[in-house]
Amino acid sequence: MARNRFLILFLLLVVVAACQKKEVELLRFPYPYQAAFTICSDIDNTETLPEFTTIQEYLCSHQQTALGKGLGLPVGNSFWMDNQLLRTGRSQDFSQPNPDYGISYNSALEDSSSAVRQTIKEFVQKGWIDCLHSYGHFSNTGFNRKLAKDFVQTMQQDSLFVDVFSDHGGTENLHSLGHRKHQLGDNPEAEVYHADITQDYGIKFLWDGQLSHSIGLSGDFSCENFLKTSLEAGQDWLNSAFSYQHNGEVAYPITLDDGSKIYRFVRYLNDRSHYDTADINFLDEQLNDKVLQKLVKNRGYLLYYTHLGANSGFPYLKEETKQQLHKIKDLYEQKKLWVASTSKLLNYFVVHKNLNWQVIMASDQVRIEIEKSNDPVWGEYLPSLQQLQGISFRVPKNSKVEIVVKNQKLPINYHQNALADYDFVTIGGEL
Ligand SMILES: [Zn+2]
Repeated sequence: MARNRFLILFLLLVVVAACQKKEVELLRFPYPYQAAFTICSDIDNTETLPEFTTIQEYLCSHQQTALGKGLGLPVGNSFWMDNQLLRTGRSQDFSQPNPDYGISYNSALEDSSSAVRQTIKEFVQKGWIDCLHSYGHFSNTGFNRKLAKDFVQTMQQDSLFVDVFSDHGGTENLHSLGHRKHQLGDNPEAEVYHADITQDYGIKFLWDGQLSHSIGLSGDFSCENFLKTSLEAGQDWLNSAFSYQHNGEVAYPITLDDGSKIYRFVRYLNDRSHYDTADINFLDEQLNDKVLQKLVKNRGYLLYYTHLGANSGFPYLKEETKQQLHKIKDLYEQKKLWVASTSKLLNYFVVHKNLNWQVIMASDQVRIEIEKSNDPVWGEYLPSLQQLQGISFRVPKNSKVEIVVKNQKLPINYHQNALADYDFVTIGGEL
């Protein structure tokens, strides 16, 4: 009998503890955002410099552009180091039905190469480019390790630093990274092996093909997302000799063929419907009102996969596309949807996921101590202020908060919350 009473008491205590909100709690996103979004575009099909700059200025700046006033969305684009098609003029050795004349750092079709190079440099500096869309567009004999070394040397000399790599093309692009048969860039036996050089240069995140229909990965549990993920896992299992992991996360560690580790990330294409082409002309359907509402509700990440250059020519973006982009801008300005570059979102996600912290409380004093993180890919590290920017906590009302790393106080923003008996605090000022 006594044992049963103890058991019941213990269970009651567990339930009470579970129901009670902790006094200090780490928020999933920078306060007050509820979900996160980016446009993660591959540079294919962006064939001229005016097309590239006009679209990016419209998305990122606040200035007047040929498409209207800039939206001020801090999203990035991607770049190539070279396009073999432009260099050799041969198209027959590429498997795509339409030749891809996309611009690159070392080659251009209509524009001067130096103008393209200058724009790519500027955009990387400004954060308007944050991804390397593989090293470029190559035939199956066009790439080798020596080329990768030369590209990295140029990128280092010209301060082109990005930490996201997305595979490009079909099976002819052998320098892709990943586990599929044609993805030989991480196979040390292959002529196109470069994963070691590329990771030394600074690549931390890889997109090697995984797409999801889930709206808000790494978010709250949703039956719909769970069913979609299960179906995707089933399809993968049935149709291919190779499977991605379907864990509902926006990024997770994988081991490449050479034994090195990297974070794989997952992009969103559509809400399980007909618009299954990653072209910007489908944005209004792929990111329709329902999708945006669900994203905020599910409180997760959505990295929208597209090709901004795959449009119908000037003025590049359809009216419907611009309307939908305006809705994203509104959600961003209302501080419901956090919009940032792919790199920023992924770095935040990983730092947040592995954050190691403890709190010491005495009356109205709250001291949050950030400790070393132990990351399955990055190893042990002490997060820098830059990495911690945006990390937010819920704290008791009118607390006197300090957040420290190794006894060093970090800059914080304290947010009074008139509607409830708690407030919020964010590291590193405004995002
Ligand atoms: Zn591509």
